[in-house]
Amino acid sequence: MEEEAHLSVTASVGIATAARSSAEEFLRDADIALDQAKWEGKNRRVVFESGMQHKARSRMELEVDLRDALSNDEFFLVYQPTFDLSDMSPTGLEALIRWRHSTRNIVLPNDFIPLLESTELIIPVGKRVLEESCRQGVIWRQAGHTVGIAVNVSARQLDTDQFVTDVRNALSESGLEPGALTLEITETTLMRNLEETSRRLSAVRKLGVRIAIDDFGTGYSSLAHLQRLPIDALKIDRSFISRLTDSPEGEALIHTLVQLGKALSIETLAEGIEEPEELAMLQQEHCDSGQGFLYARPMDAAASETFLQAWARRHSSSAGGAGHNSAHSVITP
Ligand code: C2E
Ligand code: MG
Ligand code: MG
Repeated sequence: MEEEAHLSVTASVGIATAARSSAEEFLRDADIALDQAKWEGKNRRVVFESGMQHKARSRMELEVDLRDALSNDEFFLVYQPTFDLSDMSPTGLEALIRWRHSTRNIVLPNDFIPLLESTELIIPVGKRVLEESCRQGVIWRQAGHTVGIAVNVSARQLDTDQFVTDVRNALSESGLEPGALTLEITETTLMRNLEETSRRLSAVRKLGVRIAIDDFGTGYSSLAHLQRLPIDALKIDRSFISRLTDSPEGEALIHTLVQLGKALSIETLAEGIEEPEELAMLQQEHCDSGQGFLYARPMDAAASETFLQAWARRHSSSAGGAGHNSAHSVITP
C-alpha cells in the first residue's frame, strides 16, 4: 500500500503600497518586504517601510563578514545558569553564542543565527559550540559543581545523521557524562521534519543525552507528539512568564503547562524570569526549574565559575547552621 504523504505549505508575502516612479522600484520594495517576511520567520506578510532597505543592506554586509567569522575565531560562548525552583541551586548552564564583530562590537544570535542557517554555516559553527560546551562542562564538573550543560541546536544540524556522530564524538573527546548534556531544540525545528528529527533525537538520547524543547508554547507541537517524542524537559517560553502576573489567565496557562509536564513526567523549566513575583508564582505552581535575569544573566566562562563557586560557598556555610537557604535569599551570589 502506498503511504500517504502529508505536506504543509506556508507562504510569505511582501507588500508595497505607495506610488512609485517606476515598476522596478515598486517591485524592489515588495521584494525587500518579502525578504523581511522571510527573515522574521516566514509564513507571514510584511508591508514595506523605508527603514527596511537599510536593514536588508546591513544583513547582506553581515552575511559577507560571517563567512570569515569562524576561521577568524570571532565566535565565543557565554553561559546562563538554570536553577532548581525549590532550593534555588544552580542545575546547569546554557551555552549562548556571541559574535565579536570587528566593527560592530558584539552581535547577538538573533541577528546572525538565521544567516548561519541560510548559508549552512550553522553546521560547522554548531559543531564547534557543541564541542566547546562539552569541554567547559567537564571543567566545571571536575571542579566539583554538579551542573549540566545545555546546547541549542538548529534545524539544519538535525538534517543528517552526521549530527548523531558529532554528539557522540563531542562526548567522547571531552569525557563529559552524557547525562550532563542537554540539547535544546525549538518546537518549530522539531515539527519541520518530524520523523527524521525524532529518529535522530532518539539516537542521541540512547547515548544518555537529555532533550529539551526550547521556547515551548510558541510552535505547533501537538500533545500527541509530546507523548511520542523523546523529550526530557519543556522550556516554557518567556512570553508566558511575562504574562504571568498580568491576569488570572496568565497564571492558568502556566498551571496547565506545568501540569502537562507532570502528567507526561517531563521536567518544566520557566524561561526569562525577571521579577520576584514571577518567581514566587512559579514556585507556587511547582514548576521544576527556571532561568532568567533575576537569577543570573549570561556570563563568560570565568564569571560563571565565580558564580558557581559563590553559590557553593554560601550553600556549604549555611548547610550546617540554619539548614536550607530560603528561596529568596540566594537570588544572586
Ligand atoms: P534561547 O535558547 O531561548 O535562549 C534564551 C535567550 O533569552 C538568550 O538570548 C538569553 O540571553 C535570553 N534571556 C534569558 N533570560 C532572560 C530574561 O530574564 N529576560 C530577557 N528579556 N531575556 C532573557 P540570546 O543569548 O540573545 O539568544 C537568543 C536565541 O539565539 C536563543 O534563544 C537561541 O535560540 C539562539 N542561540 C543562542 N546560541 C545559540 C547557538 O549556539 N546555536 C543555535 N542554533 N542557536 C543559538
Ligand atoms: Mg535555548
Ligand atoms: Mg528559549
